[in-house]
Amino acid sequence: MPASSEAPLDAVALRASDGPSPELNELVDRIGLVDHHTHSVVAGPVDRDAYAFMLDESDRPASARVAGLDTQVGFAVRRWCAPLLGLAPHAPADAFLEARLALAPTDATARFLPTAGFERLLVETGYRGDALFATPELERLTRTPVSTVARLETIAESVAGRGSAAGDFANAVRRSVDAALAAGAVGLKSIVAYRAGLDVDPRRPSDAEVERAAGAWLATLDAGSAPRLADPVLLRFLLWTALDTGRPLQVHTGFGDPDLHLRRSDPLLLTDFIRLSDGRAPILLLHTYPFHREAGYLAQMFEHVYVDVGLAVNYSGAQSPQIIAESLELAPFRKVLFSSDAWGLPDLHLLGSLLFRRGLSRVLGRWVVDGDWSLADAERVVRLVAAENARRVYGLPEGTTTA
Ligand SMILES: [Zn+2]
Repeated sequence: MPASSEAPLDAVALRASDGPSPELNELVDRIGLVDHHTHSVVAGPVDRDAYAFMLDESDRPASARVAGLDTQVGFAVRRWCAPLLGLAPHAPADAFLEARLALAPTDATARFLPTAGFERLLVETGYRGDALFATPELERLTRTPVSTVARLETIAESVAGRGSAAGDFANAVRRSVDAALAAGAVGLKSIVAYRAGLDVDPRRPSDAEVERAAGAWLATLDAGSAPRLADPVLLRFLLWTALDTGRPLQVHTGFGDPDLHLRRSDPLLLTDFIRLSDGRAPILLLHTYPFHREAGYLAQMFEHVYVDVGLAVNYSGAQSPQIIAESLELAPFRKVLFSSDAWGLPDLHLLGSLLFRRGLSRVLGRWVVDGDWSLADAERVVRLVAAENARRVYGLPEGTTTA
């Protein structure tokens, strides 16, 4: 059945929740999700190579070309997005791509995103913002409230690009962080995992160390080339600058593109930083796979640590219920959040929602029908993870959730 803008399908109509408890499926299908970490959609035209590339987490186009759609996420888009294109679920890849790529990015976004059933999107704006729909345009196309999260490294790089002096660098960064929050950002994000690894010295660097490191970095910048911050002292300075604001700090951990070294993105490497930061600000360990069990341990041990398995849900497709179940082993239920970490393709936002609903309904539903959980407890956990935890941590208003 083709979707049309007059009668859009929604997450309820798509019935992704197929767990063993019909009552729980009903709630999981209709609850509005707060996506606490996602990105906007590519505004320009998308061809077959670009589509496969954006569907692949590798930063190497050749790797995506070899994989094509023969991946868990590739099978999942054919399963879940094909019906929104007037095709049967699991449509062959060629037919799927032909129909999908005939849609302009504005049309694909306006069709897929409202269907996903989001209460609110928290959009991280720091990566390739020039290629993506700006926040007001995304809000208009998706008919969903959007809040922003500012990336610390991007703020520091823009301060450096404006020709800051080493002696003023720290204060200029602090002013820019404060300005981003004053402009409405609801949190800050660090990609120290990509730039230095999570095994950086956890301590706050002194002003003299920051000035020395800033001087060395700024001296290497050529006029005209985009600054890229990889100095560990300055990356630590950014983490502590974020903590000083008291606002939620998202830290990328685990699975990501090969710009990071996966072994050095284990969140356990942050243990000493987490100890030192106790009481200063909530720390949200993003995505965490395949270290989601380690992350769950940290969430149980430290009151200010929160976790999600966002990115892994899309990329593990049909296998994602197991990862969702594992994310609910040690982490207290008030510490687990939903995210999609979708970037570029609205297909990924839609999948993030549908696969999460499906996994949650199967995992919690099984515990209910086995008699290990009450239905009321399972419903409470669904509400916490879908939206209430994010609203509480980020101070978001109650949305137009339908459940
Ligand atoms: Zn992200």
